[in-house]
Amino acid sequence: MLYRKLPKGEEKISILGIGTSSIQASGEKEIEEIVTAAIENGINFFDMASSEAKPFAAYGQAMAGVRDKVYFQIHFGANYETGTYGWTTNLDTVKRSVDWQLKALRTNYIDFGFIHCIDESADLHEVEKAGIIRYIEELKGQGVVRHIGLSSHTPKLVNEVLDMGILDMLMFSINPAYDYAGGSEPNYAADSYAVGSVEERMNLYRRCETDGVGISVMKAFSGGQLLNAKTSPFGKALTEYQCIQYVLDKPGVLTALTGVRNKADLDKILGFCHASPEEKDYSILGSFAPQDADGKCVYCNHCQPCPAGLDIGLINKYYDLANAGDALAKSHYENLAVKADACVQCGHCNKRCPFHVDQMNRMQEIDSWFCG
Ligand code: SF4
Ligand code: SF4
Repeated sequence: MLYRKLPKGEEKISILGIGTSSIQASGEKEIEEIVTAAIENGINFFDMASSEAKPFAAYGQAMAGVRDKVYFQIHFGANYETGTYGWTTNLDTVKRSVDWQLKALRTNYIDFGFIHCIDESADLHEVEKAGIIRYIEELKGQGVVRHIGLSSHTPKLVNEVLDMGILDMLMFSINPAYDYAGGSEPNYAADSYAVGSVEERMNLYRRCETDGVGISVMKAFSGGQLLNAKTSPFGKALTEYQCIQYVLDKPGVLTALTGVRNKADLDKILGFCHASPEEKDYSILGSFAPQDADGKCVYCNHCQPCPAGLDIGLINKYYDLANAGDALAKSHYENLAVKADACVQCGHCNKRCPFHVDQMNRMQEIDSWFCG
């Protein structure tokens, strides 16, 4: 298992995390076994926006004795009083629900306290007015909440909350279908999660990296849609490993939260850690993603190897981030042993790039930008 460090904290987060939206397909005992197996295999990150109350006690049972080795995202606005998920902006209900979740999980602190599922400004103002954000901040002041997060599907709304300067983590829906099939206001795509144009979405990921806000990714498989040619918006299926690698290559992303229904699903996801580069290679996207994807580097490194030893994907990522104002990316670039000036203009990458990026030109552009 690989780990990525939270920019504003010491936590090292496993690149594979577990979401709770599908796990209730299993019984409590089985959930406990799945969570135990996940931890034994190095997974330490768990989102708790469950669709039922059932998994909480099973998680609490599995975490007994290893609580200090795992991180929870707890949602201030998810209510389980009826046994199934409900969304609330009532402060008293939020307090009762969070207390209940802590008790069921057998813990007295929250690694990531989330402003839960906000996609519109009006809802953000309602949550603010109700005192929920203030409450999370108070708990942070008391050390009960370690970091503040936000879950959302909407770049515009996320930018509003990023402007408040309180976030350490964002839970956001990312996959190739949402990135390339979305649209700008007011013509959003039919799928209500695929919000924002390619540019808006990429700018958001870059801003998160620049602002030091980690991203935990939900819906990496578009709810399973992308895994089946019949339901994939591209008319072609991708694999779980291609989708996971795709999201992990996006700036700011720390972990892909995958939904598992049973132990077999968990084993499949864990296979990502041992999968070959070919199994994770999602460059096939270049042959069926829409025009928006054309000519833009997605950092997939399918164009490797470079005879001059350039890490083409990473150089492009640092360049885009530096352009977005990320001072750290500039210094990361400067620390690279082989930089854009080493490009010998052989053209190998141009021939190999499925997204038709003119990388020969881009390397010259990158070199003069950093040296200028
Ligand atoms: S130039 Fe093309 S193949 Fe190379 S990293 Fe960028 S998108 Fe991938
Ligand atoms: S054109 Fe430059 S970056 Fe591309 S493969 Fe050749 S040397 Fe590497």
